[in-house]
Amino acid sequence: MQLNGNPYLDPQTALEHLKTYPHRDGLSVRDLMDSVRHGGLAYNDFLLLPGKIDFPASEVLTESRITRNVVLKTPFVSSPMDTVTEGQMAISMALLGGIGVIHHNQTPEAQAAMVRAVKRHENGFITEPVVLSPSHLVEDVLDIKARLGFCGIPITDTGSLGGKLLGIVTARDIQFRSTNTKLSDVMTTSLVTARQGITLKEANDILRDSKKGKLPIIDQEGRLVSLLARSDLLKNQSYPLASKNPESKQLYAAAAIGTRPSDRERLALLVEAGLDIIVLDSSQGNSVYQVDMIHHIKSTHPHLDVIAGNVVTREQAATLIAAGADGLRVGMGSGSICITQEVMAVGRPQATAVFAVAEFANKFGVPVIADGGVSNVGHIVKALALGAGAVMMGGLLAGTEEAPGEYFYHEGKRVKAYRGMGSLEAMEQGKQSKPAAGVSKYPDPRKSNTFENAATSRYFSESSVIKVAQGVSGDVQDKGSVKAFLPYLHVGVQHSLQDIGVRSVAELQTGVDHGDVRFELRTASAQVEGGVHGLNSYTKRLFA
Ligand code: IMP
Repeated sequence: MQLNGNPYLDPQTALEHLKTYPHRDGLSVRDLMDSVRHGGLAYNDFLLLPGKIDFPASEVLTESRITRNVVLKTPFVSSPMDTVTEGQMAISMALLGGIGVIHHNQTPEAQAAMVRAVKRHENGFITEPVVLSPSHLVEDVLDIKARLGFCGIPITDTGSLGGKLLGIVTARDIQFRSTNTKLSDVMTTSLVTARQGITLKEANDILRDSKKGKLPIIDQEGRLVSLLARSDLLKNQSYPLASKNPESKQLYAAAAIGTRPSDRERLALLVEAGLDIIVLDSSQGNSVYQVDMIHHIKSTHPHLDVIAGNVVTREQAATLIAAGADGLRVGMGSGSICITQEVMAVGRPQATAVFAVAEFANKFGVPVIADGGVSNVGHIVKALALGAGAVMMGGLLAGTEEAPGEYFYHEGKRVKAYRGMGSLEAMEQGKQSKPAAGVSKYPDPRKSNTFENAATSRYFSESSVIKVAQGVSGDVQDKGSVKAFLPYLHVGVQHSLQDIGVRSVAELQTGVDHGDVRFELRTASAQVEGGVHGLNSYTKRLFA
């Protein structure tokens, strides 16, 4: 303090003064990790310190690499679990800029059909329409109407997609007709059609101007390739962030398999269906089986990106990187349905695991996916700050409309079933004669035959007689459509990065590496202080 005159420093020199100030707020990521040298950190144990905002949140780029060759516009991946990712989830995740990994707790054929549906998906176009032949009867149309709720059906010579388009049958065509009339006698043959390759906008315009209910899309030989429905006109939004293969322009498809000999055949079917990324699904990935499988894939399907795992240590990661993995999945015991740490006594707190593996793997150009334990936007940003290329979510997405299964009410709340793939319920799936609660939009493989259970291959040693559960079965609350929920996560991440003062995920990670983005440990009372507290009651609405 000065004795005469102004006792304070000149405010205008504050920024200058900061440069030589002896203390720096917060910790570098290394100091954060070292601060619990003999323990591990969970996401809730730390925070990032705010930086400077000099750009709008909408400008923040969330683009990130999830394998050596695949970059996504949003760093979101849905888990290969039978209550999370089937075809519909995989399509929606890809449309919204992420990717869904289709689970393998089903027959290889059913899984391949879902991969095919993702690859064939063209936004707005119905790529697998219901088709009939001229010899079908009016009663077949009535049956479809009763089961599926529509009756504008294209008629081809073969009665299936790819056949020559001959006509279309609508509700009006079959009104007042006896049920055993052949469709050839009632179908409309003066058709408005469009050629394959037409854009969604052009097709929508034709549909609007023609005043027809359906617009069949045909190839040069007049064969039916897809259909556009008037009822979908308003829903045909565009998806600027969509995850597409730059060459084929098709959505990226990812699916999981195990490492058993039969998984090689499953893999071949998935590849034939157009798969881009294969995920080797194992709770402890550092095994000779996984190394053999990576070698097999690299020699038979060299174009395929392989995500191996799960791992939580550098040592585990090193084996898989050396074997040729293009990406790693990190997490053991952090999943919301998981009891691995309790039962197996192995695992690692997730933040420490992500940092350790990402720091090591990134040196080899191998991105990591932080898998499990993500229950809010903050956790996503923390995983990215610790070096992850993306997060994988199960529980956070299981309550959305696009997840398999129907909603039901539990204690007054609308919920959907969510279960660990290591739960006894999931491990017994392949042997069940009747389908479990999760009802798929696709032909239910569980009805037809049994298959080598995928969940057991992930969590259960084949030679054991007794199955040891590593997961539980429960339910999660309704989250509405992923088409609203994922944009919320995306905008949430953008706002968070803006607060941190970085314009992209890449800038976040460089800032962390250089020690410019700072962290702080959270004591137990800091965690209480940082949550909602002191209220008699409250409602928690996350987005509008
Ligand atoms: P969540 O997002 O926290 O619900 O975690 C999902 C992740 O938990 C999945 O991606 C898997 O890695 C993991 N997981 C799935 N099923 C089980 C299980 O039964 N036991 C342990 N972990 C599981």
